[in-house]
Amino acid sequence: MANSVKQVIEAAGFRLAAVTDAPYVDAQVLAGYVLCRDRAWLVAHSDEVFPSDRLNEFRLLIDDRAQGRPVAHLTGHREFWSLRLKVTPDTLIPRPETEHLVEQVLSLNLPEAADILDFGTGGGAIAIALAHERPVWRIHAMDMSVAALQVAAENAFLTDTSHICFVNADSLAVYGVRCFDVIVSNPPYIAEGDPYLRRGDIRFESDDALLAGEDGLDCIRYLVAHASQSLRPGGWLLMEHGHDQAAAVRSLLRQAGYTDIGMIADLAGNDRVIQARCPDND
Ligand code: GLN
Repeated sequence: MANSVKQVIEAAGFRLAAVTDAPYVDAQVLAGYVLCRDRAWLVAHSDEVFPSDRLNEFRLLIDDRAQGRPVAHLTGHREFWSLRLKVTPDTLIPRPETEHLVEQVLSLNLPEAADILDFGTGGGAIAIALAHERPVWRIHAMDMSVAALQVAAENAFLTDTSHICFVNADSLAVYGVRCFDVIVSNPPYIAEGDPYLRRGDIRFESDDALLAGEDGLDCIRYLVAHASQSLRPGGWLLMEHGHDQAAAVRSLLRQAGYTDIGMIADLAGNDRVIQARCPDND
């Protein structure tokens, strides 16, 4: 019996109910992906027969999703800052809360041709969003993962932001005496062994992008300790952090002499991004 677009998506959504909070949306996104159509098309053509030559591919994707694999890994991309970015298991799947970090950098009072560093760029989301908004900024982006940087470079090409300078490194030492106006980072900040790591999409993401020692603060501690050597006087350090880490991160920044500390909440109301000005480094 022929099934309509709507019926096929609804049945798939029903199958996914146990694995995701958004079963219908996930089924719809995957249907759109196999049919190369957007959501508006699926809604407008909901009573038409689901093309039979695509049904098998759709069912295989739903099987994979039912095993837990993230939608972004199945379709190979995710929207961030209205840009379509490639995603692979080597990169973090871009999250909406990271857009706050981009917004915050854009709101700073910076020189016309500011020098910006995205520390731990992963798939390049932050650097690319900034390059897209401010083509005259000189944007550098580094990551210790070559595989992630390959995705980032491809994303830069696909989004026409090819002027970003990508570097493979795991410390700020690679920049020597070069100084930036802003160092921005969505670093790994989850504690090893956190039960949160056993639920949902995160199980399929790279540990290198997520884990930062026993309390999740290793990478943030590194940045607080070293960023001032790579920032111009009065330069800014902006970091995303865990929903319960704001007080700990603020106190690290204060102890290290940073000033003008500001915290920005995510859509759930949790402080999620912190910004501060570096102390004089002499
Ligand atoms: N925001 C991600 C999450 O909580 C973690 C990303 C990170 O460690 N930078 O799922």
